[in-house]
Amino acid sequence: MDPFTVIIMLAVHLVGSGALMFFVWRLMPDAPGLGRWWVASCLFGLAYLGRLFAGAEAVDAAGLLGDGMMLLAVLLFSDGLREFVGRRVWRWQFTVGLLAVLVVSEAAAAWAGGPRARHTVLNLSIGCLYGLMVGLIVVELRRQPAPLRAPLRLLASVLGGMCVLALVRSRSIHGDGMGVAFHGVLAQVFYVYASLAAVVVGLTLVWMLFLRLNGQLADQATRDALTGVLNRNGLDERVTRHFERRDAPPLTVLLVDIDHFKRVNDSFGHATGDLLLQAVARTLVSQLRAEDFVARVGGEEFLVGCAGAQPAVALALAQRLNERVGQLRVAAAGGVEHVTCTVSVGVSRCVPGQADWDVGTRQADLALYQAKAAGRNGVRPFLDPALA
Ligand code: GH3
Ligand code: MG
Ligand code: MG
Repeated sequence: MDPFTVIIMLAVHLVGSGALMFFVWRLMPDAPGLGRWWVASCLFGLAYLGRLFAGAEAVDAAGLLGDGMMLLAVLLFSDGLREFVGRRVWRWQFTVGLLAVLVVSEAAAAWAGGPRARHTVLNLSIGCLYGLMVGLIVVELRRQPAPLRAPLRLLASVLGGMCVLALVRSRSIHGDGMGVAFHGVLAQVFYVYASLAAVVVGLTLVWMLFLRLNGQLADQATRDALTGVLNRNGLDERVTRHFERRDAPPLTVLLVDIDHFKRVNDSFGHATGDLLLQAVARTLVSQLRAEDFVARVGGEEFLVGCAGAQPAVALALAQRLNERVGQLRVAAAGGVEHVTCTVSVGVSRCVPGQADWDVGTRQADLALYQAKAAGRNGVRPFLDPALA
């Protein structure tokens, strides 16, 4: 294939990927990274098209403008990636400053060494930026949800390939001259790979976005919007998943109910009540082990599933939850006052399997009722009425 055709193919793929992302972005303007990615992809493609018509070897303002567009595209792409993985994006002043440094270095190289120096520096800069993106993905991989890791690994591999090829190209243009930039095996490999990469990267980014969206929808269906802990749906799913395991340890049910919560709402307002609910939920979560779970099962009532514990351990956990919540001081909404609260906790017997789950929650409920009747701010285990 002649270089002209390959470069047109690359430009069309970049603009095509950008257009695909643009249409998705119009539907999901808040999707992290996407706003920058579609602009970056289109900008990169247009820069390649512009270069074809301006001539790649010309050392003039149009050539430098095209190279500047390419560098800006890679910076925007990288910023989109930061946004997607949850890192703070660079301030625009930093991006513009870095772009200026890169363009000025390239202009200086072009002025001193002609097109050969210009393309050496351009490829070196772009190769290094790709390398930094691979580093970012590798560092962030463990923090990302499991389903996102496969596309992120694919992205890192494709960008890693681009990084190596751009650096080899820079080295080879520097050593052998402009002849190898657009002709010969290396140029063909570079442009064919870049052309494929444009398609694979574009589709991978959209894949990543849909995986993230899917995760968010699943979260919305199973999480309580106010406190972020499981809702009833999430609880059912969690319990079923727990007991599906062949070696599932028994569960103990703890029902945790805030005492006189209505008074908080009445005295400090609903907004403060909400803040208190969030703080209590955070406190409960902070005391649990990985296998335990917490769900909001009523307005101010939480269910804690304590996995594998002996009755004494579950009671100690209940006691700890009661103490930690009792130590909370939550700033009232819009005021200087602080709100405190206590909880009553009812503890079931060990629940060995899914079939006994309802019995366990009833036991915890009865025990909670007794804790309330005994004056609140306390823990009660379920005692079999027949034995009492
Ligand atoms: P007890 O010690 O007997 O449990 O008394 P209580 O006041 O905590 O219980 P009660 O069932 O009488 O009142 C619960 C209150 O919880 C009533 C309701 O307005 C409030 N509530 C329920 N959901 C929410 C919520 O999402 N936000 C806020 N702020 N309040 C809520
Ligand atoms: Mg209550
Ligand atoms: Mg209640």
